[in-house]
Amino acid sequence: MARLCQDRNWKSAVYLIEIDSQKRESEATRHLLQLFHKEELLGALGLGPLAWIVIEAQKSRLIPGIVGDVDILAGNLDFQNWSQMEAAVEEMKSREPDWPPQLQIQLAGKMVAESGGLVWPPKSSHVAGAEVKCAYFTDQIKSAKSSKDKVAGIRSQIDWLENMGLDRFALVDIVGTRISDEQSGGWLGAAGEAQRAREAMDKILGARLGAKSPAGQFVWSVGAVAGGDEGMRGAGGLQMLRAPQPNPKLASGNTEVLEHRTALLASIPTLFADLPVPRYFPVTFLDCRTCRKIHYLEDAACPLNDSASPGNVGQGGMATLASTGEVG
Ligand SMILES: [Zn+2]
Repeated sequence: MARLCQDRNWKSAVYLIEIDSQKRESEATRHLLQLFHKEELLGALGLGPLAWIVIEAQKSRLIPGIVGDVDILAGNLDFQNWSQMEAAVEEMKSREPDWPPQLQIQLAGKMVAESGGLVWPPKSSHVAGAEVKCAYFTDQIKSAKSSKDKVAGIRSQIDWLENMGLDRFALVDIVGTRISDEQSGGWLGAAGEAQRAREAMDKILGARLGAKSPAGQFVWSVGAVAGGDEGMRGAGGLQMLRAPQPNPKLASGNTEVLEHRTALLASIPTLFADLPVPRYFPVTFLDCRTCRKIHYLEDAACPLNDSASPGNVGQGGMATLASTGEVG
């Protein structure tokens, strides 16, 4: 059985189970977005690899007079000339035929962006959002937000994503576990913990949303493995419980929702107006409460990116590959 590791000799790993409840959701969102899971989530929300993401976007920046934040806000990017983009994808395919298509597209995007072909700041025509909840499992689920009031609060947050005029929206439940080291089975031990956590969460997930909700629903039950946090080497994938549906209030022409959407689309270019053109995709930003502005997630000037800080995040996988000058 997994145990809580008292004697940690690795640095810079921050496990969900070790974080106080206020910061856990924030950290869970970052862990999720470090992984390929973000591509699956974006895909279900109607977005491809050429997208932007803002973590914890304040709604007041998007639509005046609305409070709170959207844990994950994402939208599409556009290019000055899509035939240039298509030519770049063909070039990547012939240069690196064995690479996954997503990576070929991302690196083609990087090439075109660097030659000035990306519309920046972006004007988006498809905008999606997700709320993230994070619980953890130590033989039973903790911090599940499963009381009647908490469930009502979650449903209200989801209703707001609909009322803001987002195209699609979803709820993502993340469940962390105790850290599994070599004695407790390593990665396999962690996968077992993740499975037990998922089973323990089942009933709670079933009651999260109304039966007719257009929101998508996802769960990421992730076993923590010693040696790197869930964003680096967690055991367990993102599971889609139901696919996000198109926003029914946009389809029915709800006046207030259409007005919100108009304001939202108009505000998007201003969010990114002062930021340099991205060089990796999907490009990820943080609406940072510490810096009081939106900046690149990996911004070295942000105190959260100090390597000694528990808020430390790196760009995992493809993003690292795509953001270095080595490739493409
Ligand atoms: Zn910051």
